[in-house]
Amino acid sequence: MTDTDYRVGTFAPDILFIEEGHVRMWLLLGARKAILVDTGFGRGELAPLVRRLAGDRQLRVVLTHGDGDHTGAVEQFERVAAHPAEFDYLAARGGLPRGIDPLWEGTVLDLGAARYEVLLIPGHTPGSIALHDPARGVLIAGDSVQRGPIFMFGQGRNMTAWVASMKRLAEARRELGEAAFAHILSAHHDLVLDGSIFADLIAGGEAWLAGELSGEDPGTDRPCRLYRAPGVAFFAP
Ligand SMILES: [Zn+2]
Repeated sequence: MTDTDYRVGTFAPDILFIEEGHVRMWLLLGARKAILVDTGFGRGELAPLVRRLAGDRQLRVVLTHGDGDHTGAVEQFERVAAHPAEFDYLAARGGLPRGIDPLWEGTVLDLGAARYEVLLIPGHTPGSIALHDPARGVLIAGDSVQRGPIFMFGQGRNMTAWVASMKRLAEARRELGEAAFAHILSAHHDLVLDGSIFADLIAGGEAWLAGELSGEDPGTDRPCRLYRAPGVAFFAP
């Protein structure tokens, strides 16, 4: 199924993805409810596409964080939900959406067959969240869990907090088992990662904090440097 601006694909019968350029949204389908995770750049008519895909299910829109490639189409929806720690950043980026609802750590979004728990994982942005269904081993973590380059420069970015968040996820993987993090559904680049990535992310972030990585020209006009570590890269100060 293709719309002019969007490419729709399937990860599982109840987990679809919608790609807009280089960003990817996820659409989670329950029997009666559906959750759209992020809204892309907002260059196209996302809401009617999602409505068609979700059928008569009750739709909820959840933002992993407030970056522009995830929030572009928020005004196409009546209400969206994000962690309140992200509200300042959303407001600074062009206004808090009219219908914004708080989404707290520990909330369980129950779709029936799948149950996604909200985890607060600050660092990439202050109110970045992940949705985790340990029973099916699915984690959706926005930009926070990927090989990057991960944007870690500018207001609100905090490498120490991000490393702590990655350690939290790695610790949960040790406690719950590798199967609980078997499918990390990504917003950029690779479609799916697995929890073995946490070791690379933690080591890379700690190396940056220790001043062990040397920055390269970022190849863009962004006010940052490009840092490469094994298995992860950062745009950072
Ligand atoms: Zn992004």
